[in-house]
Amino acid sequence: MAVQPRSIAVLGSTGSIGVNTLDVIARHPDRFQVYALAANTSVDAMLAQCEAFQPRYALMMDEAAADLLRQRMPASCPTEVLCGQQDLARVVAAPEVDAVMAAIVGAAGLPSTLAAAHAGKTLLLANKESLVMGGHLLMQAVRESGARLLPIDSEHNAIFQCMPVAADATPSLRGVSKVLLTASGGPFRDWDYERMREATPDQACAHPNWSMGRKISVDSASLMNKGLEFIEACWIFDLLPEAVDVVVHPQSIIHSMVQYRDGSVLAQLGNPDMRTPIAYGLGWPDRIDAGVAPLDLIATARLDFEAPDEARFPCLRLAREAVAAGGTAMAICNAANEVAVDAFLSQEIRFTDIPRVIEHSLSMVAAVEPVSLAVVETADEQARAVAQESVAGMLAGVKSVSNA
Ligand code: NDP
Repeated sequence: MAVQPRSIAVLGSTGSIGVNTLDVIARHPDRFQVYALAANTSVDAMLAQCEAFQPRYALMMDEAAADLLRQRMPASCPTEVLCGQQDLARVVAAPEVDAVMAAIVGAAGLPSTLAAAHAGKTLLLANKESLVMGGHLLMQAVRESGARLLPIDSEHNAIFQCMPVAADATPSLRGVSKVLLTASGGPFRDWDYERMREATPDQACAHPNWSMGRKISVDSASLMNKGLEFIEACWIFDLLPEAVDVVVHPQSIIHSMVQYRDGSVLAQLGNPDMRTPIAYGLGWPDRIDAGVAPLDLIATARLDFEAPDEARFPCLRLAREAVAAGGTAMAICNAANEVAVDAFLSQEIRFTDIPRVIEHSLSMVAAVEPVSLAVVETADEQARAVAQESVAGMLAGVKSVSNA
């Protein structure tokens, strides 16, 4: 009997994860069909994806982009163009949707990720910021609706693959003693502080092993990405912060490890290509072709490990402090980081100012219990306002020095 293809909504389809997801989907037309695509402003890319995948819906968050896409959509495409957060929440919750790839970048992804979780969908979670920001709400929605969360972030996907199978108890009850989260160390692993102070956005985005969007690339360079992933691991696997260690592994071949009480350490290895975790999530529990070259261990030759340097990379410490503070501190940390990364990418602040902006916001905005989405969004807004002020102060400083 022929099996119906699974119907997928790809959110953030024009980005790095979205494009890789569509690459894997295109390899398996018998298994998957695209029900909806969503992006913000990239009309050309969205149009090409609509022509190739013929989704039922294409959503642009930006109104002008949605109008333009509507005008340019060829009559041969069955795609209806939608716009805005409400339409997006409605589309991901549609009964036709089996799985949602949540790959919008940043806090903007939270409402749609939450909507997919509330609707009980298979949630392929790449958008780590939504978990960092609203972890309590998201995990509660997953539990209550019976949604299945499959982590797409390569580290958490690796941990998921190395965890004991099919047991509902927390990892500590299943013999897990530690999770070892690997970090490449980013492009500035060997740089001293003075050199990092002068780093340009392009240098920060030149990741040695992974090709990714600009925001996550800067996060990787500052190690805030590892900080966000540390928070993400605690939420997804129900771990105490002390059960998660970060290990720098420059080759990015081991994507993370799980250490057991009996001394065993299980690792997941592979070439650094996001199509592997994406294919694992899409095909789960089956293994499907991802188009990824097999790992050549002889060519790899060596696997190195070192401890992270939290003095040069304070973002990791700040993420730990946000976890320890609890409540909305993680949302504050995330929002301040987004503002700081934007400001760095538009060359308003230096790379080394990023942790300063975050630390200032964490000290100025009081963390509260994250009892609702509105509370989390308020914390996000307050942190953004404080972070903007601190960026403006730094900008004024830079201008007055250059005018002197
Ligand atoms: P990109 O910057 O490459 O792409 C971001 C995507 O989100 C684009 O499709 C963009 O649309 C869309 N988008 C941005 N803002 C909005 C909005 N307000 N509403 C709807 N869509 C929006 O990011 P990545 O693909 O690199 O990362 C996506 C997420 O996945 C991030 O959370 C990142 O941390 C996570 N991740 C990424 C990895 C990677 O290898 N890239 C690895 C692990 C996790 P448009 O093109 O129109 O701007």
